[in-house]
Amino acid sequence: MNTIYFDNNATTKVAAEVLEEMRPYFCELYGNPSSMHTFGGQIGVKIRKAREQVAALLGCEPSEIIFTAGGTESDNTAIMGVLAAAPNRRKVITTRVEHPAILTVCRELQSRGYTIAELAVDKQGRLDIAELEEQIDDDTAIVTIMYANNETGVVFPIDKIAELAADRGVVFHTDAVQAIGKIPLNLSKSNIDLLSLSGHKLHAPKGIGALYIKKGTRLSPYMLGGHQEAGKRAGTENVPGIIGMGKACELAAKNIEQENQRVKSLRDKLENAILEKCPGSLLNGDKENRLPNTSNISFEYIEGEAILLMLDRYGICASSGSACTSGSLEPSHVLRAMGVPFTAAHGSVRFSLSRYNTEDEVDYTIEVMPQIVSKLRRLSPFVAE
Ligand code: PLP
Repeated sequence: MNTIYFDNNATTKVAAEVLEEMRPYFCELYGNPSSMHTFGGQIGVKIRKAREQVAALLGCEPSEIIFTAGGTESDNTAIMGVLAAAPNRRKVITTRVEHPAILTVCRELQSRGYTIAELAVDKQGRLDIAELEEQIDDDTAIVTIMYANNETGVVFPIDKIAELAADRGVVFHTDAVQAIGKIPLNLSKSNIDLLSLSGHKLHAPKGIGALYIKKGTRLSPYMLGGHQEAGKRAGTENVPGIIGMGKACELAAKNIEQENQRVKSLRDKLENAILEKCPGSLLNGDKENRLPNTSNISFEYIEGEAILLMLDRYGICASSGSACTSGSLEPSHVLRAMGVPFTAAHGSVRFSLSRYNTEDEVDYTIEVMPQIVSKLRRLSPFVAE
């Protein structure tokens, strides 16, 4: 049985073109770009090209990109780097629905005496911009708000938020790990100061990421050591990863409009059929302002994990919003922040598609889902169908 992979917000397949581009840089052209000899030095040219490819996708200057080891490092670097550069400001504003790569940093900072404001979201996962306006004050060092939510796909009005932060003289960072490659954006026309992205969410390998640093943004380096990345990120470069990331960005830039339209129509077909055919199913998140590939659906009175296990038996990979902590299944912090009732938050399943999914896969899943839901409902102690 072939695997049907609907878990692309967790990670994506490396594109064949990306792998081809990376291949020579493991065993043939394996030099260190910082070396004096030509063997190492020639690799600098490829890194320059990769930086240009990333910058072209984002609409910024190549000199505004540094490569990191992934989205988590980019997020940590943005927050910690801004705070280190502005030691007199002790407040960070974020949201309740960020990825742990942001929230865990914020909670650590809180334990060190920083003020952390976590903005609320409404039932559809939308922010209240007025609350952000109220929270920004003279003590605020950075506002960090994700571009698109990894669980629901809800897209925040980032340009508006960035403009507001700029008007108030506060640095603005966005975790755009889930947005890049799925929606077009142009940093040359935006007030975003810092933006994180991750290779493995856009068909490059795991362990490579990048941080956009708008020219003039005050940021202290987070990783200390050698002089790589213009002194902004120490550590020998992940050469194959960087080259792969560059190629993945080039591919994303080339096809973004058509691919996203195709992915969206597959996602909509899957979502509409599930909502129609499975009683007690509800869509989580703002239907309109959403990534084209993501659908988060709750199935009342059923455990999301049970659905995932049954889907797995049919060869279908998806994910749920719950995290197993200390033996009990906690519903996702994102769905809790949205006020999704307990009985529905426990039964949430996220389907996240990519350009490699096909209509046949969607049709097969549409056939299977109602059977799974009806079987699990029959077993549920809470409801009689
Ligand atoms: N931010 C968001 C929104 C994510 O979805 C993820 C990964 O799931 C990360 C950050 C972390 O990225 P990485 O896995 O590259 O460290």
